[in-house]
Amino acid sequence: MILSDFHVHPDFSIDAAGSVNEFCEKALELRLGAICFTTHYDYNPALDKNSGYWKCKGSKVKLTDEVVGSYLEEIEIAKNSFRERGLNVYSGIEIDYTPGTEKEAERLRSLFKFDYVLGSIHCIEGLVFSDMEQAKEYFGNRTLAQIMDDYFNLLRMSAECRFFDALGHLDYFARFGQKYCGDEINNIDIKRFAPVFEILRKNGIGIELNTSPYKRGETGFHPSKKILEEAINSGVVISSVGSDCHSPDELGKGIKEGYLFLGSKKIIPKHPV
Ligand SMILES: [Zn+2]
Ligand SMILES: [Zn+2]
Repeated sequence: MILSDFHVHPDFSIDAAGSVNEFCEKALELRLGAICFTTHYDYNPALDKNSGYWKCKGSKVKLTDEVVGSYLEEIEIAKNSFRERGLNVYSGIEIDYTPGTEKEAERLRSLFKFDYVLGSIHCIEGLVFSDMEQAKEYFGNRTLAQIMDDYFNLLRMSAECRFFDALGHLDYFARFGQKYCGDEINNIDIKRFAPVFEILRKNGIGIELNTSPYKRGETGFHPSKKILEEAINSGVVISSVGSDCHSPDELGKGIKEGYLFLGSKKIIPKHPV
């Protein structure tokens, strides 16, 4: 079985370490067949036009088209040099979805050629719920019913965005919300996903199987197995398996488990070739 990791954050992300080349060397060591870089693109129209920062050649820089161009150039060089060594390298991006992101996603896709574009929700009502401090403010001041209404509303909107190839870590709210909302957040009525799955299926947009708990020494996937099964039964494409690694030592964590789970459902991830 040839395994690929399709959710990789190299050191262009402020919160990641390890160059494109270092990740590729590590991928060869792990005998992965392919690797796709998915640097965070945290454009947020609710804040300002270039709200995000990246790192470029070791320095913190404002996220501009020029920096995105340098990122893609570095991947292009790796594509050519690692292909002959048996590793396929893909250029991707993980766009943070907030209402209004559609225009920016369209502009980016018309300007650059990405092999794979993930759309992910990390932020609700201006609060980044995947940040420990902001999670406290977000989850601590709202009821679970309110949080779920907000989240599913956003999820439906992100599924409508035609500029994503797949949605990332579909139930990420559960990781950060459990501390404040309790176990109930892990048992959200599965039927709430039905309208989202219907949109994804109709628009040919996939979802990823995100194995990030494994890099923390835990088990399980985002979304959970139950949600993945429901997605598969609803005809949604599982387009990739990704570790969401932020350093080379996290690369490939949980990938084998993700492929084994999909294999048991007779599913092969439909990532770009
Ligand atoms: Zn993410
Ligand atoms: Zn990520």
